[in-house]
Amino acid sequence: MGRDLARRVRGVVVMRSTLIDALAIGELSWQDYANCRGADADLFFPERGASTRKAKAICNACEVREECLDFAITNGEKFGIWGGMSERERRRVRRQRTITRKVS
Ligand code: SF4
Repeated sequence: MGRDLARRVRGVVVMRSTLIDALAIGELSWQDYANCRGADADLFFPERGASTRKAKAICNACEVREECLDFAITNGEKFGIWGGMSERERRRVRRQRTITRKVS
């Protein structure tokens, strides 16, 4: 198993276990409205260097994008596209939120 595949598989496992945990405590009602329901999970956990354009297009049309992004940032999701953002983009948002919190 290549490193990228291992990352992707781990990402899916992390996502699934997080979702299961969240569903168990009733936190994920927003997910019922997710535009990615039934979509190919590989789109949201692409190989390194692969396009994220299709996943982001699905996210851009998603009515729970904000909730999804907040969930991923709050839970430190390290893999995949959440709320229309890659892990690197989410890290940037997380840093900005941390700075905003410290200033206010
Ligand atoms: S923002 Fe994207 S990943 Fe999140 S629920 Fe919507 S479609 Fe799925």
